[in-house]
Amino acid sequence: MKAVVKTKRTKGMEFVEVPTPKMGPGDVIIKVRIASICGTDVHIYDWTRWAQHRFTPPRIIGHEFVGNVLKMGEEVTRVKVGDRVSAESHLTCGYCYQCANGYSEVCRNFKLLGVDHDGTFAEFLVLPEHVLWKNDEKIPDEWATIQEPFGNAVDTVLAEDISAKTVLILGAGPIGLFAAGIARACGASLIIISDPNNYRLAIGKKMGAHIVINPRKQDVTQIALEATKNNGVDVVLEFSGNNQALNQGLKVITPGGRISILGIYERRVNIDLNKEVIFKKIRIYGITGRKVFSTWYKTSRFLSSELVDPSPIITHQFSLKDYEKGMKLMKDGKCGKVILTV
Ligand code: NAD
Ligand code: ZN
Repeated sequence: MKAVVKTKRTKGMEFVEVPTPKMGPGDVIIKVRIASICGTDVHIYDWTRWAQHRFTPPRIIGHEFVGNVLKMGEEVTRVKVGDRVSAESHLTCGYCYQCANGYSEVCRNFKLLGVDHDGTFAEFLVLPEHVLWKNDEKIPDEWATIQEPFGNAVDTVLAEDISAKTVLILGAGPIGLFAAGIARACGASLIIISDPNNYRLAIGKKMGAHIVINPRKQDVTQIALEATKNNGVDVVLEFSGNNQALNQGLKVITPGGRISILGIYERRVNIDLNKEVIFKKIRIYGITGRKVFSTWYKTSRFLSSELVDPSPIITHQFSLKDYEKGMKLMKDGKCGKVILTV
C-alpha cells in the first residue's frame, strides 16, 4: 500500500510503498478514506526539538481520519465490515490508575497513533477495536475526519458552563476556530478572538466571533476590557501556546473567572501567579486529549445536528500524495484545516 512515512531522523517525509499492516485477534483493518493534517504532523515533518525527542522513525504518520472497516480479528464484536469509523488517537491501556478512575485521557501507558503506532496517512490502518468510534450517518466524511481535534476544542470550551458568558479565545488555529463555533452554539454572549494571522481571523468571524483582534496591530487587553464594560472576560480559552498571549488572557480574565489551556508552550511559561491567579481566585484547567468517549458523543452531536458547521475551517483538500502542499500551507498559516483524500 502507499503511505506517508517518516523514514529518517531529518527534515521531510516520503510517500512510499510499504507492506499492508497485519492485525491481531482484537484488531480491525480499516480502509482510510480521508485523513487530516494536525500541527503534530508538521512538527514531525520539520523534525523539531519535540519530534527529535518523541519520535522514532520509520513510522507512518497521522492520527486523524475517517474510513471503513475492511476486516476484523476473531475477537472483535463491536464493529462489522463496512462500518464507517474514526478513532480516539490515544491508544490507552485500560488498566492503569488513571484509566481505572475515568481519566483515560491521561492514561500512563497510552500510545499515540501516528507517533508510537503506525498512523492514518496510508491506504490501510490497523487499530484495536476499543478505540474505534462509529460515525453518525449524518456527518459527511470531510467533517468526520476532524472530530479528534474538534474534541480538544469541546473539552476546552466546556470545562465549565459557557452560556451567556463573555469569552476570549487566544489563537485562531483550527482548534481555536472550532472552539469559537462551539462557544457560539452553547450561547456565549460575547466571543473575542485574537490571532496575528488575518486569514484565520476572517474564518473566526464566520464561526461566530463578535470581535477579532490582531495582537500585532491592536491592544488585546484594552479591547477586551472595553467590550466587557471594564469587568474583564468570564472565560479565557488558550490555544496559542504563546506566553505573551497567555499573560494577556490572565490580565483580562475577570476575578473569579476561569481559563482553559490547551496550547502547548515551547518553553517554561512565566506568569504572575500571585497577582493574576491567586488574588483573582481564577480557576485554571489544563486540557489534554479528549474524554473517551463522552467527548466523542458531544462532538458527534454538535456536528450531526449542525449546531456547529465547521466547513469554513476546512479550507483545503489534496490527495494523500500531495501531502507536502498541505504541510507548507500549515507552516505559512495560509489555511484552516487541511484534509487529504486517500
Ligand atoms: P495552530 O498552531 O494551528 O494554532 C495556533 C494559533 O495561535 C496560530 O494561528 C497562531 O497564529 C496563533 N498565535 C501565535 N501567537 C499568538 C499570539 N501572541 N496571540 C494570539 N494567537 C497567537 O494550532 P492548533 O492545531 O489550532 O492547536 C492549538 C494549540 O493546542 C497548539 O498549541 C497545539 O500544540 C495545542 N494542542 C494541544 C493538545 C493537547 O492535547 N493538549 C492537542 C492538540 C493541540
Ligand atoms: Zn491507562
